[in-house]
Amino acid sequence: MKNSDKLDTFIIEEKIVKVNGDIASRFYTRGKELGKGGFAKVYEVTNNETKEIYAAKVVQKSSLTKGRTRQKLMTEIKIHRSVHNKGIVNFEHFFEDSENIYILLEICNNGNLNEKLKRRRRLTELEAQCYLMQLYSIIRYLHSLKIVHRDIKLSNLLINESMELKLGDFGLATKIEFEGERKRTMCGTPNYIAPEILDSRVGHSYEVDIWSFGIVAYTMLVGKPPFQAEDARNTYKRIQGNKYSFPEATPISPEARDLIGSILQTNPSSRLTLDQIIDHPFLNKNTIPRTLPISTLCVPPSNT
Ligand code: ADP
Repeated sequence: MKNSDKLDTFIIEEKIVKVNGDIASRFYTRGKELGKGGFAKVYEVTNNETKEIYAAKVVQKSSLTKGRTRQKLMTEIKIHRSVHNKGIVNFEHFFEDSENIYILLEICNNGNLNEKLKRRRRLTELEAQCYLMQLYSIIRYLHSLKIVHRDIKLSNLLINESMELKLGDFGLATKIEFEGERKRTMCGTPNYIAPEILDSRVGHSYEVDIWSFGIVAYTMLVGKPPFQAEDARNTYKRIQGNKYSFPEATPISPEARDLIGSILQTNPSSRLTLDQIIDHPFLNKNTIPRTLPISTLCVPPSNT
């Protein structure tokens, strides 16, 4: 391989059609890998001209051979580009070349909540309150647009330079088209799947995001998801039987236990609503900071 070819693999070219019909190019330099998903790799990229930095989600076209996968990517793009909120990773734009589709996103430099939890083992109640308040606002916004995200989990909750929480990955998001519609596609991440998703006869809707909110809360405070088992099949069994408990050795306040217990209800209509969540004692018993200090990425905050 010639040196210039080697270099080319790290340069991404975006073809732009100008108003007068001429074609121009915009170049980006590919930087470090930020993460990996189901069928995408995410890299840091820099616009060579403006020096603006983005996260680029790169999907190989060869991985889109099945019609369903392509359709899913199109839905992800359609829904993600339609949402604008400070709690959601901003969708800049997307383009393609002969090999890949590139989705340019606002970069979140401080990793995702799963990585933070791995470093910290578990988070303090104050941190959980702070992230849950932000997650509440994000879900409230999405549901007001009749969008159900369906994949709310720690690795899809990113932290930006200002330590603000941003939800990403709209790959499983769906729009509720009419009042009372129940979706029947089996989807989600095993540990976070709501029981009604496992039973396609029942159908599911907005309440699956509330369920994931409960799983996120438990996971942050305990250090592992409530229904975790040796394999997905056993996780599903535990979800369907609502079999979880709080480890005795972990100090968790009665308010936190009550919030989680009132959300992890098998029957979606018994689950807390967003209005009940924001009024719950766990989110009202003390002053909650809007964001946390950067030091908490590695060590607990000093005031708890
Ligand atoms: P997939 O849809 O294939 O699951 P994701 O969108 O979940 O891919 O991205 C995979 C990982 O890449 C995330 O867990 C995260 O660590 C990283 N990542 C995604 N988007 C960004 C971003 N905007 N800024 C920084 N890192 C990101």
